[in-house]
Order: sequence, then structure tokens, then C-alpha cells
Amino acid sequence: MLILDGKIASRAVIDTLKTEVEQIKLTGKRTPHLAAILIGNNGASETYVASKVKHCDEIGFGSTLIRLADNISEAELIATITELNNNDAIDGILVQLPLPKHISEQNIIMAINPAKDVDGFHPVSVGKLVQGLPTFIPATPYGIMLMLEHFNITTKGKHAVVIGRSNIVGRPMSILLSSNQPYGNCTVTVCHSHTPNLNEICLQGDIIVAALGRAEFVKANMVKEGAVVIDVGITRVEDPTAKKGYRIKGDVAYNEVAPRTSAITPVPGGVGLMTIAGLMKNTLQAYKAIGK
Ligand code: NAD
Repeated sequence: MLILDGKIASRAVIDTLKTEVEQIKLTGKRTPHLAAILIGNNGASETYVASKVKHCDEIGFGSTLIRLADNISEAELIATITELNNNDAIDGILVQLPLPKHISEQNIIMAINPAKDVDGFHPVSVGKLVQGLPTFIPATPYGIMLMLEHFNITTKGKHAVVIGRSNIVGRPMSILLSSNQPYGNCTVTVCHSHTPNLNEICLQGDIIVAALGRAEFVKANMVKEGAVVIDVGITRVEDPTAKKGYRIKGDVAYNEVAPRTSAITPVPGGVGLMTIAGLMKNTLQAYKAIGK
């Protein structure tokens, strides 16, 4: 059984990006720049954004973190995004989700200039993804594709079962795995909260991508011997014995599932790191398209 180690695969991506930025600096051009908007004080969001900024620093990208209070109006948030859209020194814009309830996620995503949509959530990006055109791929599915590539996992002709159909993970993942490209060409079944017989469907999967957000949901009796299992889930489960008072759990019961698999991602240390790698690649791509 191969552990699909996100530390190793993301390191390879980050090191390549670092080298590219060094080359850009040698030419005297400005460096790529990512702007992140963080609203309110959500602990998980704080952690994710801090990690994104840290990786920008490490690669040599510029970054701007804009913190806004959680009572900001939708109009004010859109005005901030518009300023970033119009700022030629900013290549990529991300608005960390989730947003406060009074703000429409859709309106905010639509406000981002598609040329700077490094999260790949804008309908223009999604439309291009569906049609197989070059675009920004949402960072988590992109990171998973980079991981499959890094470990040279065979996907062609395989049956992939994707659990979850969100716009952020499950839906784009299913499109990528079914598309005609290296590390695609799977036959894909998308499962969701209304799927009956989920266990039986999972058992048919040569590849399982678990992205439903339920700690340790996928058990050994749902996994075919030799399957490749990609665990996207990140759930904080209370644990008074842990230093922070909680532990991060994936969607897969790792200890019982791992021995049945041919390859599996750990949580933490798997897909999460690849998500950052995907975002960083998108930022360089945005720069190359509109950078000077
Ligand atoms: P979401 O809540 O938007 O979507 C969950 C999906 O799972 C839905 O489509 C729903 O239909 C499906 N689902 C829920 N319960 C189900 C069940 N019992 N059986 C079958 N399907 C079911 O969540 P999301 O944003 O897609 O995130 C999913 C998980 O991935 C979460 O734990 C999230 O924290 C994690 N996540 C991790 C990363 C990363 O970088 N590792 C990035 C994004 C999300």
C-alpha cells in the first residue's frame, strides 16, 4: 500500500514554482501577487489563509491579506473586490469561504474578474472546465490531479466514485476524472446525500474520492481490495486529550481502510497540502496571462 504523501507531492510543485519565480526576478519583472480576503474570525478560515500567505512568501509571490469585519455589507465587499480587479499589480483574488450568512456567495464569486479567479469558482472558469478549455481549476480537485500525476496513478478506464457534488470539490473532481486528458478518462459515478446503495457503489470503485465532510464515513466494507482512496474531508472532532482540544479527521476511517487499498491519502498531510499547491499554480498562471 502506497501512502500518497501530500508533503512530498506538494513540495515538488512548490519547488518548481520557486524556481520559476527566481527566473522572473532575474528578468527584473514584477513578481506574481495574490490578494486574499478574509471575513470575520472563523478559526479554520484563519488557518487556511495563513497557510496560503506563508506559501506565497516561500515561493516568492507577493501577497496582500485583507481582513474585513463579519458585519461588512455585500456592497462593501464587492467594492473591495472591484478595487482588486482594477489593480494591475494583483494577479489573483480569493475570497475565503464560507461567507457570513447575509452575503450571497454567488454574487461575490461573480464579482471577481475571471482573469483573476484563482479559486476557479466563477461560472466562466467552470464553463471552460466543462468544455475542456484551459482555465483555473478549483484548487482542491487541481491538487488531487497533481497528486495523481506525481505518483503516476493509472486512471484511464478505471471506475471512479466521487462522494460529494459541491462546486468546490465533488463536481469539478468528477468532470476532471471523466475528461479526456492524462489522469482522466475514468468512468465516473457521482454520489451525494440522496444516493441509495452508497456502499454497493463504493465497492465498485477502482478510485474513491471522499468529499462529503463526515468524519470517518468510508469504512473498510465499502472499499474494494486494491482501490485508490483519496480523502478530501477535513472535520474538527472534539478531543480533550489533544493539545488544541480537537483532532482533524478525514472522511475515511484510515486505519481500517488503508490495508485494503493500493494507495491512500492521509489526513492531515494529504489533499490539504495539494490544495495549496493547486492555488499557487493558478496564481502563477494568472500572472503569466496578465502579468507584465
Ligand atoms: P459540502 O458540504 O459543500 O458538500 C458535501 C457533499 O457531500 C454534498 O454534495 C452532499 O450531497 C454530499 N453528502 C453529504 N452527506 C452525504 C452522505 N451521507 N452520503 C453521500 N453524500 C453525502 O462540502 P465540500 O465543501 O465539498 O467539502 C467536503 C469536505 O472536504 C469537508 O470536510 C471539507 O472541509 C473538506 N475540504 C477539504 C479541502 C482540502 O483542501 N482538503 C478543501 C475543501 C473542502
